[in-house]
Amino acid sequence: MRNLSFMLAAVLCSVFCLSVFSTSIAQEKKMEWLNSSVNTITKTLIDKYGTEQKERIISGIKQVSEFWRTEDGGKDVFEGFIQQNFAGDKATQDELFNRLEYVFEKLDGHMNEIGREMRLQQELDLGPMLPIDELFAGYNTAAHLNDDFFANKVAFVVLLNFPLKSLEDKIAYGASWSRRQWAEVRLAERFSKRIPADVQLAVSKAAAASDQYIADYNIYMYNIINEKGEHLFPQGMRLLSHWNLRDEIKSNYADPVKNLEKQLLIQKIMERIVDQTIPEVVINNPNYDWNPYSNKVTPVAKPDPAFAIVKTEKPEMLAKAEPDTRYKMLLDDFIASKMVDPYSPTARTHIDRKFNEEREIPENRFKQILLDVLQSPLAKTIGDMIEARLGRKLQPFDIWYNGFVPKSKYTPEELDAIVRKKYPNPKSFQDDMPNILKKLGFSDEKAQFLAANIAIDPARGSGHAMGAYMREAKARLRTRVGKDGMDYKGFNIAVHEFGHNVEQTFSMHEVGNMSLQGVPNTAFTEAIAFVFQAQDLNLLGLAAPDEKTEAMKTLNDYWMTYEIAGVALIDMEIWHWMYEHQNASPAEVKAAMLMITKNIWNTYYAPVFGVKDVTILGVYSHIIHSFLYLPDYPLGHLIAFQIEEQIKKSGTIGPEVERIARQGRLLPDLWMKNAFGVHVGAESLLEATNRAVKILKK
Ligand SMILES: [Zn+2]
Repeated sequence: MRNLSFMLAAVLCSVFCLSVFSTSIAQEKKMEWLNSSVNTITKTLIDKYGTEQKERIISGIKQVSEFWRTEDGGKDVFEGFIQQNFAGDKATQDELFNRLEYVFEKLDGHMNEIGREMRLQQELDLGPMLPIDELFAGYNTAAHLNDDFFANKVAFVVLLNFPLKSLEDKIAYGASWSRRQWAEVRLAERFSKRIPADVQLAVSKAAAASDQYIADYNIYMYNIINEKGEHLFPQGMRLLSHWNLRDEIKSNYADPVKNLEKQLLIQKIMERIVDQTIPEVVINNPNYDWNPYSNKVTPVAKPDPAFAIVKTEKPEMLAKAEPDTRYKMLLDDFIASKMVDPYSPTARTHIDRKFNEEREIPENRFKQILLDVLQSPLAKTIGDMIEARLGRKLQPFDIWYNGFVPKSKYTPEELDAIVRKKYPNPKSFQDDMPNILKKLGFSDEKAQFLAANIAIDPARGSGHAMGAYMREAKARLRTRVGKDGMDYKGFNIAVHEFGHNVEQTFSMHEVGNMSLQGVPNTAFTEAIAFVFQAQDLNLLGLAAPDEKTEAMKTLNDYWMTYEIAGVALIDMEIWHWMYEHQNASPAEVKAAMLMITKNIWNTYYAPVFGVKDVTILGVYSHIIHSFLYLPDYPLGHLIAFQIEEQIKKSGTIGPEVERIARQGRLLPDLWMKNAFGVHVGAESLLEATNRAVKILKK
């Protein structure tokens, strides 16, 4: 249930926030006049507007000079621009601020609408697609906005008049800033980077190459044979690494005794991907049988009829391992990301950009939060519970155990019938929205307001939510309703997406300054969506899940966070290692990856699992193609859990959601502190897990 509006926000941000910093040596040489010009014009403006504007004048001119390039103009253009565009008194500055807020709201909102219309056929269930629909859907109308706004100097007007702040400043002083001060900072951040086109292109190329590498990394499972030469997996099963491999391990817990051998085989495949002993010919190729234990490859004895033969190799190729391509991809991502460093003076490494600018949580503090989860004695307690439930010693792959699933009181058929009757078509759900909202505790007035600002569309996929970005437009709830009406799964997802829409509506209409619209990051909106989703049975008038069911869910949440926390640490450590070893070869990156995965496993998992030197957590594909994205997962789990717990404690959903969402896009910690008086952290999850363990041991 990805939230499209956030994906769009990310696209808009990468558009607005990506651009160039004029610090390259070539640029400096061409602009030898710049430093003296900065001094002259600074003095001129202070003389003109007085010392009370001094701080603004100095910081504004400095910001402009840091982004100015030769092609923006010479000395006279630079000085003339600053003279003309500095808002030297409060009234002019207010007017400028209001004008920018107005125009950017319209720009974001209409760009969002254009993108939505261009993706209409792809996203909505409106009949068969034409090839042109894909072309439209792939087109990004906002792709050049940032370059355009630097070229026409709108970006420089913003940078001249509104301050960029470091994460340190935001943490130290943000709590005492007014809403307007925060809005000014967010406004300036639209133009906090100006990356040269060739650098942007290098990053996109590396991203596209690693995406493609991962997208084609399939294992044909019927071709996997055990030591006895048996095929354990069905024909037609092709698993993409790592997602499908991991999920196949999970689905095999349906019968853990019978499926143990299959789970162990997948674990061995994962190890061979991570250490690159996997034979190159078995990747994305149904033409060879492979025994992952002996690592022997043989031409397929009985082809899987579901797949055409794709390539055959000379016999001598069969023993050849993948030549560290996995780590070549990662290294290329790093090399491209490093090219951005000189153009990002507020965050000099990719690691700093991810933590200080995107997540806005310092890396050290984030790491401590992960350690709180990883070092908790709860890991051992729950590991023991899993061992007891499985009736055998833990295996490393049990890090993906998903057996804390309570039995539902209702059969899927019963639930489908109830939902179908209630919601035969999308309009019936739309008409019922005010009732749903009132059941969640919203007043009549708020329920009407929300229902009037959220529109229902028939989704082609399972459903998603899309924010509006301007107040005159509506948020969109894309939901799937079959010919016979909505089924229970569709309803459950629709309620989740509805939660996103409610957050999107409050965090736009009620934030005051439009530059503050939204939430600090995706986890915050997911939390609100989960709170809604958990009410689905209540909303149907059925009994809510009991205490044991809730407890099982909490243990599952802890175990998932325990797993992904280690994966996030691996992602962080390999990026640090690459920055410390900038001339490394792919083979050296591989060796570092193996060392890091083993160290992390031995420190945080071996005491629970009783096995050392396990590397399977390194199998995550994101490590290779997502540029240090993985820390978002545990952070998301923790923040969502924290918010859900706090809302549960308050006992009232509607007014709480409105109260917290109207804060807008502050720092994650400040948002959480204002909302609930606590910092972002693992305490909520750990406390709830402790309670859940007691309930289940009763
Ligand atoms: Zn969601």
